[in-house]
Amino acid sequence: MTRNVIILGSGCAGSTAAIYTARANLAPLVLEGHEPGGQLSLTTGVENFPGFPEGVQGPDLVEMMKRQAQRFGAEYRMEVATAVELGRRPFLVKTGEGSYEAEALILATGASAKMLGLPSEKPLLGRGVSTCATCDGAFFREKEVMVVGGGDTALEEALFLTRFASNVVVAHRREKLRASRIMSDRARKNEKIEFLWNSVVTEIHDPSKKEVTSVRIRNTVDGKESTRKIDGLFVAIGHEPNTKIFEGQIDMEKGYVRVHVGSKTSVEGVFAAGDVHDFVYRQAITAAGCGCRAAIDAERWLEARDSR
Ligand code: NAP
Repeated sequence: MTRNVIILGSGCAGSTAAIYTARANLAPLVLEGHEPGGQLSLTTGVENFPGFPEGVQGPDLVEMMKRQAQRFGAEYRMEVATAVELGRRPFLVKTGEGSYEAEALILATGASAKMLGLPSEKPLLGRGVSTCATCDGAFFREKEVMVVGGGDTALEEALFLTRFASNVVVAHRREKLRASRIMSDRARKNEKIEFLWNSVVTEIHDPSKKEVTSVRIRNTVDGKESTRKIDGLFVAIGHEPNTKIFEGQIDMEKGYVRVHVGSKTSVEGVFAAGDVHDFVYRQAITAAGCGCRAAIDAERWLEARDSR
């Protein structure tokens, strides 16, 4: 059976696209991907998603979106797309369990924040360890926080965090920033920002307390180890768009899917939504908006094609 629409990914972009295409009677199939619910499923409190004056837990929000889409007939499958064939019609999507055909595809596979890979990092994610200052900065009023990284994202996060935190330590593994000159100058001028050069975080304390209390730092020049007390750790070492399976089949920019005129990609009938194409805003609400846009674009494209 060829599906009208298959949506790859079940974060805010994927589920919003599912709500809209389901309500348009397109009976979408959502392949949930390797991180069902997307990045919100890895966070705790979300305070900036409109409509929740008291805030909402990230996993609850994505679960509610999923239920809303299912209510209108969207089918969710816990499968990961392992390959796609975009050069044929209908499109082919392969998963570990089988393969599916679709008239239209919505790519909402997102991007994953790169992590340090420390054993203590994952259990503390959403409990003091964060990859998004815009999302979590306000939880650290008058607290001391650390940002890891030396690129534009790290400095942007650090500057944003100075609005709340009493002190922001930027720990960078070299002594030269990768960030642009303008961002570097801005950060250096900010009195609340302190730089720790040649510094690598080797351990985050304390998973047993379910909160961040301090980090262990190794100096890359002399190898000396030290402990620094902090209340929050923001990992800002870049993002990895989940686009491997589209490589060579669709136009991309810096590894992200390129879109034009709304959500259209370089392949007719394939639309993109959320962090898979957006490396600027990366917010739950912008991803949801993009999901809506991709669903409407897919619906109109199917309609125009069928009336030809
Ligand atoms: P990025 O430029 O790749 O920088 C990543 C930083 O993290 C680098 O300083 C890197 O160190 C460090 N890093 C990487 N892996 C690490 C690890 N395992 N442990 C410790 N440190 C690690 O990534 P980004 O900052 O996310 O920026 C991505 C792109 O978006 C860039 O083109 C950037 O200019 C753009 N951007 C622009 C703005 C803006 O203009 N306002 C804001 C955000 C992003 P090394 O330097 O040693 O490699």
